[in-house]
Amino acid sequence: MRGRDEVVVALDVGGTGMKCALVRPDGTTVHTERHATDAQRGPDAVVDTVLDVADGLAGKARAAGLTPVACGIAVPGVVDEARGVAVWSANVGFRDVPLGDLAATRLDLPAALGHDVRVGGLAEARLGAGRDAGHVLFVAIGTGIAAAHVVDGSAAVGAHGAAGEIGHILVRPDGPPCGCGRAGCLEAVASASAIGRRYTELAGTPATAAEVADRAATGDRLAERVWREAVEALADGLATGQALYDVATVVLGGGLAQAGPRLFDPLRKALRERLTFHREPRLLAAALGDEAGCLGAALLALDTLAKESR
Ligand SMILES: [Zn+2]
Repeated sequence: MRGRDEVVVALDVGGTGMKCALVRPDGTTVHTERHATDAQRGPDAVVDTVLDVADGLAGKARAAGLTPVACGIAVPGVVDEARGVAVWSANVGFRDVPLGDLAATRLDLPAALGHDVRVGGLAEARLGAGRDAGHVLFVAIGTGIAAAHVVDGSAAVGAHGAAGEIGHILVRPDGPPCGCGRAGCLEAVASASAIGRRYTELAGTPATAAEVADRAATGDRLAERVWREAVEALADGLATGQALYDVATVVLGGGLAQAGPRLFDPLRKALRERLTFHREPRLLAAALGDEAGCLGAALLALDTLAKESR
């Protein structure tokens, strides 16, 4: 049992902002703060800010009579968790940055580096919508689509740090181009950005995915079509996910999941139609909101600590 005054310094570094927190071992947050990433300054400047913010948080913890025991950092892209290296990230500009070692040295604490969606899934599976499920697929649908497969509280990383990229499952071979360079990937059809882009293209007036969902619900035929196409593509992707992972619960997070029943009702039905002998997973909305990444980074750091002390 860890002491009551122990906290983990946790950071979730995104393309535009960093969510930061001091998190107790039981997953409760004692302090949060946010900072701008300003990724256009280049990766070296972003690394400096990450280290300054983490060091500042550790100082605040000590000033409040708490003991920082570890540091957990979540970043997007390809992450080598074992070596603590941010291998590649398009929106933050990282290329082979040994962020784990840099943080450990600067803070003089054990540090863990994780992938933002994988640690988000870790948090949802252990503390959020997927708790008690054992086998959980967490799918974040926003600008892109990525997933984390969590079994008994730990998320599979993959042989090259790239597990869970279900946004790049091929669902429409003749579909729109994807950021990865291929056409017809799931996220090119069904991410929030793709839905907004598709409607804008067809209607000639700009709309976000949330607006498309609203308009579809009020009988806008074009919005209905774009929304239906996205839901069907998502169902194809999730059916593939279920064939691969056979989970008890699928937790949907990210901006698109906020569409609520407008997404979940048709998606549940479309997924059911696609499953044959596979068991239908429970389809739930994420419970931790945008805190999931930070909480997951803290959990990963605690897991690393527990392994080291064994
Ligand atoms: Zn792709």
